[in-house]
Amino acid sequence: MLGADVRPKHPRDRRPRCTFAPVAAEETAERNGRAVAKLQALVRIPTVSNRDPALVDTDAFDRLLVELEHQFPLLHERLELTRIPSHALLFRWPGASSERPVVLMAHLDVVPVEGTWRHPPFDGVVADGIIWGRGTLDDKGCVVAICEAVEALLAAGHVPAQDVWLSFGCEEEVSPAAATLAVDELERRGVRPWFVLDEGGAVAADAFPGVAAPVGVIGVTEKGVTSVELRVEGRGGHASTPARMAPTARLARAITRIDRSPMSAGIPVRRLSTPSGRPASSSASASRMAHSGVMSDGLKTTVLPNASAGAIFHAGMAIGKFHGVITQTTPSGSRKL
Ligand SMILES: [Zn+2]
Repeated sequence: MLGADVRPKHPRDRRPRCTFAPVAAEETAERNGRAVAKLQALVRIPTVSNRDPALVDTDAFDRLLVELEHQFPLLHERLELTRIPSHALLFRWPGASSERPVVLMAHLDVVPVEGTWRHPPFDGVVADGIIWGRGTLDDKGCVVAICEAVEALLAAGHVPAQDVWLSFGCEEEVSPAAATLAVDELERRGVRPWFVLDEGGAVAADAFPGVAAPVGVIGVTEKGVTSVELRVEGRGGHASTPARMAPTARLARAITRIDRSPMSAGIPVRRLSTPSGRPASSSASASRMAHSGVMSDGLKTTVLPNASAGAIFHAGMAIGKFHGVITQTTPSGSRKL
């Protein structure tokens, strides 16, 4: 954002001009160093989310909020803060106009640590120009980038053209609850976002067949998560007379069927525009065009089977962790095995 010259393009657009001066190389290095130190400090606080609230270290989240306030004093002093349970934050940076509000999103929680790490996940080690740690990419880096930009602009006396909202979730990895409450709060205040920027995709290498260069993937839609419970019942039996399609086999068959039934693929295109900005056609026919043209032109056979590329076009089915019990039922009652 810094160093850019943003001028209104449309003649009817009466937004104030925002002009930013170029930043000298030494100053850029100093700012980068400051941002890196802040990200390291946030990574060192293990804000691991969990589906079970009882297993969440709320003290870590408390410490993270204190650290944020310490790191970004102007932001906390001048922006209006609404706390969203339990540890999500919704800031409003008043602009010259409250029309066309902008929402910048990120989240404060991280997923648990798994596997072997080259550097400890919560030490924030900088090695070979890389910051190592859980949450550096997903998504504390975004938190620092947003807050650091706002802090610098506040210090420079900048007033945004329109209201800017910062929405930082606290359980994004496991639940939509805090995000839903933040949306409720925006609706309650009559805020209808003109533009929302969330974490989105990554720079993916070897993700698209035939494309050698890394691709910056723009996420334009969001998926949900569904957990299903499968329950089968059947008679037990002796190993000498095994039953056909016993409960375990039926369960395995059901799991296989789910695995082979991915969600239907689609392109999240509502409207296609010509270079002049006019709609190419009605939204329905444009969408049809996108589906019939693009989807039949080999994408179905080349892109969808690729895990990274296919994920953009449809929700996949993943048979993940199992949680289950086998219960033996007898005339005298049930017992877990
Ligand atoms: Zn994330």
